[in-house]
Amino acid sequence: MEQTVFIFLLTASLTVFAFSCYRRLALISVGKNEYRFDCPLDRLKEVLVYAVGQKRVISRPFGLNHGIIFWAFLVLALANFEFLVSGIFPAVSFALLPDLLRGALLFLFDICSLAALLAVAVAAVRRTVSPPFQGARTFEAYFILSMIATLMLAYFGLNGVRIAQGALAATAATPVSNLAARVIAATTAAGALATTGIVFWWIHAVVLLGFMNFLPYSKHMHILTAIPGVFLRNMGKSNTQERETFVEGNSFGAATLDRLSWKDLLDSFSCTECGRCQQSCPASTTGKALNPRGVIHAIKVNLLRNGAVMEKLSGDAGAERCISLIGNGEKGSTTEAALWSCTSCGACMEACPVFIEHLPKIVQMRRHLVQMEARFPEELLNLFENLEQRSNPWGMAPSERSKWSSQLSLRPFEAGATEYLLFVGCSGAFDARNKQTSVALTRVLDAAGVSYGVLGREERCCGDSARRLGNEYLFEQMTRETVRQFQVKAVTKVITQCPHCFTTLKNDYRQFGLELEVVHHSELIRGLLEDGRLATARKAELGRVMFHDSCYLGRHNDVYEAPREVLKKATGNEVLEMGRNRENAFCCGAGGGRMWLEEHEGTPINRNRVQEALAQQPETVCVSCPFCMTMFEDGIKEMTGSRTQVRDIAEVVALSL
Ligand code: SF4
Ligand code: SF4
Repeated sequence: MEQTVFIFLLTASLTVFAFSCYRRLALISVGKNEYRFDCPLDRLKEVLVYAVGQKRVISRPFGLNHGIIFWAFLVLALANFEFLVSGIFPAVSFALLPDLLRGALLFLFDICSLAALLAVAVAAVRRTVSPPFQGARTFEAYFILSMIATLMLAYFGLNGVRIAQGALAATAATPVSNLAARVIAATTAAGALATTGIVFWWIHAVVLLGFMNFLPYSKHMHILTAIPGVFLRNMGKSNTQERETFVEGNSFGAATLDRLSWKDLLDSFSCTECGRCQQSCPASTTGKALNPRGVIHAIKVNLLRNGAVMEKLSGDAGAERCISLIGNGEKGSTTEAALWSCTSCGACMEACPVFIEHLPKIVQMRRHLVQMEARFPEELLNLFENLEQRSNPWGMAPSERSKWSSQLSLRPFEAGATEYLLFVGCSGAFDARNKQTSVALTRVLDAAGVSYGVLGREERCCGDSARRLGNEYLFEQMTRETVRQFQVKAVTKVITQCPHCFTTLKNDYRQFGLELEVVHHSELIRGLLEDGRLATARKAELGRVMFHDSCYLGRHNDVYEAPREVLKKATGNEVLEMGRNRENAFCCGAGGGRMWLEEHEGTPINRNRVQEALAQQPETVCVSCPFCMTMFEDGIKEMTGSRTQVRDIAEVVALSL
């Protein structure tokens, strides 16, 4: 009878579970097509490293605790499989295995169950005492933890009864179950052991089946989708955005689910709500409306509310009837203020253990606002006009572009006569402070005998801010012009001092058919120093030198060591590191077009970063980006009494010549 009830329950549970998964996962078909199945072997390797190995999870505080629960679950999946099979066919169990193998498995199950139980206790205490983010203490989170704990306790109870009954030998293979057996034997009458065993068995069975069916309806859906999500991750870096097709009648950007890709929608189910993205986000941590976890969560809520409707309807009619992904705080939407707060620094994506890609979704929503609704912060109107009409953010006359070098005798770029194009960038050409970097860089290049030329007044803005701000149409216009110019002039190698120009010329222009060898000045100078083409005559005396990583050089393009090595050679000293450095570095606040926007909410991002830097009392903070230069100079000026100076690495090298 019991067996029949169990078979009925198991069949019903599996059917409902399969149906629930189908219903939820079918929703992602609302999204646009995207191909994510190339290089399957590399993808499998990533799964082994990041999903099975939990590499990103354990790299952060408390991650090991999650890793323990995950690994224990992998091992205990085998024990649970045996539990379910022997529930249907009592004669089929591990008892059929050779003693040695069975003993090893029982030992593994005992230890893993104990480890999971302890890890669950730690997770519950942590969530209560020091939650990872405000709002993390949900009923759902505690409910899941208690279900896992109950499963483990029921396992020990069941094994304990079996040992107490003599049905299972109390060997060294079951140390924890032996202890449970002693407790059970001491507290349970011999005649009640069988009933106790049945109770534990049913508790285990009901919780296991209940847990399985709860998953698709909870944030723990990630147990089912996170591993596929890692397999389907962007194998490159999210350091560029996809192009739009500008054809009449097309819709641009994303305000509805069907404008995101199916992978974007799958991401929303894969979020574990660990809060790591928001802890790393410069906007969230300085009190802005943006919360990258919230953006992903809103997409999920939107999908659950609208997905089924959209699935049944075709075309735009469905989209119109659904709540927008961009709203004013309504559940399932992200506010415009939040979207404009993003610096596109990529810290969220770097922190996410399941490789969720927040930034492309944010840019898609910005594109909708700019291109479909012409809704953007007022300050951007000027910027867009200046970029469009004068191809620089300040709207300066093109003739002003070459004034910084009027005292220098620079050669114009000429294919065949000059090897590199020195792409100065708008900041390097127009901004008073960054012009000094440009001059210093030419001194370094001349000292090393590098063959380079400039475009002078013919240079145009690369379009980075336009693209990250969602004005893809403008970016496309600007890019087409520059690509044509580079092709006519046969430019193939570019040096740039600006990580924003660097990433745009290197990663974005490729989409427009222009493959360039783009080198950031830090990499070039490192090479010149290593080859002996550049010799330092003296050590630059700049006291305690600290280095700040630019997001677009480091996190987006993996250039971490070159600027550090250059500084070490030029100063003769080790470089001081900030608390948050390399891939965990904190943004200066200027990326993603934020350079041109005021910060109206919370504390300024640059102040946060400057305070972090000054805590170690450096005499010089070194940067390798003109935007970082501006943000640090402004931030340090606000700190009364600080004598810390800001230098670009090219200036430091120039001092050492
Ligand atoms: S890219 Fe940077 S600013 Fe934007 S959401 Fe991610 S962490 Fe926050
Ligand atoms: S998006 Fe990633 S980092 Fe952010 S809460 Fe979800 S799983 Fe964690």
